[in-house]
Amino acid sequence: MRIAPIPTLDPETNDIRLRTAKIVSELIIPNENILRQRTPEARQLRKEIEERVKAEGLWAPHLPKEYGGMGIGFMKHAYMNEILAWSPFGARLFGVVAPNSGNQTILLRYGTEEQKKKWLEPLIRGEIESCFAMTEPNAPGSDPYAIQTRAVREGDEWVINGHKWFCSNASRAHFAIVMCRTAEDDGTGKAKDRMTQIIVPTDTPGFRIVRSVPVWGHTDGDHCEIILENVRVPVTNTLGREGSGHEAAQERLGAGRVFHCMNCVGQMWRAFDLMVRRATERVVHGGKLEEKQFIQGFIADSYIDIMAARLMTIHTAQVIDSGVGDVRANISAIKVFVPAALERVVDRAIQVWGAAGVSSDLPLEGMYRGARTLRIADGPDEVHRILIAKHVLKVYHDGGNWDFGF
Ligand SMILES: Cc1cc2nc3c(=O)[nH]c(=O)nc-3n(C[C@H](O)[C@H](O)[C@H](O)COP(=O)(O)OP(=O)(O)OC[C@H]3O[C@@H](n4cnc5c(N)ncnc54)[C@H](O)[C@@H]3O)c2cc1C
Repeated sequence: MRIAPIPTLDPETNDIRLRTAKIVSELIIPNENILRQRTPEARQLRKEIEERVKAEGLWAPHLPKEYGGMGIGFMKHAYMNEILAWSPFGARLFGVVAPNSGNQTILLRYGTEEQKKKWLEPLIRGEIESCFAMTEPNAPGSDPYAIQTRAVREGDEWVINGHKWFCSNASRAHFAIVMCRTAEDDGTGKAKDRMTQIIVPTDTPGFRIVRSVPVWGHTDGDHCEIILENVRVPVTNTLGREGSGHEAAQERLGAGRVFHCMNCVGQMWRAFDLMVRRATERVVHGGKLEEKQFIQGFIADSYIDIMAARLMTIHTAQVIDSGVGDVRANISAIKVFVPAALERVVDRAIQVWGAAGVSSDLPLEGMYRGARTLRIADGPDEVHRILIAKHVLKVYHDGGNWDFGF
């Protein structure tokens, strides 16, 4: 896959895009079938690619320079994510591995110097792993105030009891960032100040992994169910101000949603490329697929989906970056539209490829599962639709009208 510089972008962003694209298209995409294995050959190849990425100064776009990252800021990172997502192996080989990267960002922003030394630095060096534990089987994840896991202060310790699930990467994790209820609503309307994120080492007595929940038929996905039973950690493990749990989580999810959407756009681009190439080559019923109007319709509709998804995501990123204007409705809008557009584009690409489309020879089936999952994770579609309507209606109730101009 090739890209040209975008004339309206600054030279540095274009340079990052082009150098990232070179590595992804020359070293990663042609080797995907090796990279998905767990063989010594695959390990060696991963090491070589990572070394090349580091030598090019393209390692860890989400981290500042003093922590070994690129220190490039939000917009450049968003543009880079689009290219990384051409391959399902891209982000990992450039040092961006969820959920560690999200936890690194939170630790950077909210961690104390001691927490950074103990957890962040070894996490960045790749010596330890982490997970994020918010969702619970017995409370709706869509309602963040419904969390039941409780942390109670006893002297200098938190005592945590609760039940979590879908904690990705938990079985490998050395610590979990656990979202806990630390105070009940006192009726003063400060309901927001009830949750706190607490760092819990996974070898603390009472922290027990029940199972890895199978997802899409995969039992090794490592989305774990966890019981916390009288888990005791020092109060110094509190991440950020007590009661600021939602604030920190929203921040993670806000910018994170833009990055996820740029990932989706990159995947759409790859799926589109695979679809169009196949259409120009495969001969069916006496003619190439590209000559059939059904297939031309797939190409046109996918083009429209990608254009719309890409431009609305970039616009939202620009508004966030400018720091001016309320971007919450836009974030919800991209969160609803973009994964659904990805699902449609990948679906058409699969259709054009026929049986090969659902095989693991191509990245399409993985993209399809990922797109469907994204419509639930990070807040289900319905919740974001409700939020968009709320923001719009509030403006009208306050006597204004919605301004699409920002
Ligand atoms: C692969 C995967 C990985 C994940 N990784 C993590 C992780 O690492 N850490 C973590 O904490 N969580 C993780 N999650 C959990 C994810 O964040 C939650 O699934 C999500 O927040 C939704 O919560 P829920 O599953 O409890 O759904 P619920 O809250 O029970 O919602 C179920 C459905 O109800 C509907 N609904 C909800 N509210 C409304 C409404 N107001 N009006 C109408 N309909 C509504 C929606 O259709 C929604 O899909 C992961 C999930 C998946 C699938």
